[in-house]
Amino acid sequence: MQKIILSQSILENLRKHAENEQPNESCAILFGKENTVSDTFLTENVEESPVNFTISNEQLIEGYKMAEEKSLEVVGIFHSHPNSEAFPSNTDRKFMETNPVVWIIYSGVNKDFRAFVLEQEIKEIEISEN
Ligand SMILES: [Zn+2]
Repeated sequence: MQKIILSQSILENLRKHAENEQPNESCAILFGKENTVSDTFLTENVEESPVNFTISNEQLIEGYKMAEEKSLEVVGIFHSHPNSEAFPSNTDRKFMETNPVVWIIYSGVNKDFRAFVLEQEIKEIEISEN
């Protein structure tokens, strides 16, 4: 997969969610098909931390149920870095191994979205708006 496709309104919702959750990291589950995101589930960061995030098991299960009901797949995970660049941390990298979907990160510092997949190494992919 070379890119992930989102609409501008989805990006705008994620940006608002990230800004509402400041100073803590925010997170969301992204639904869609193949490499296109069509819906989001804005989740709670149960850690309430500015440097880490955890989606509760309940919300994860709820997310997978929502995807199934909508006949969509979980295609990505979103979270924000309020105080650092939109690049996966060592902790993110560990969770990317167990959640092999596209990871989209938003930086509160430069208001930038970036997307990554973990292959042998972390690989940045293009975010394209539809
Ligand atoms: Zn992170």
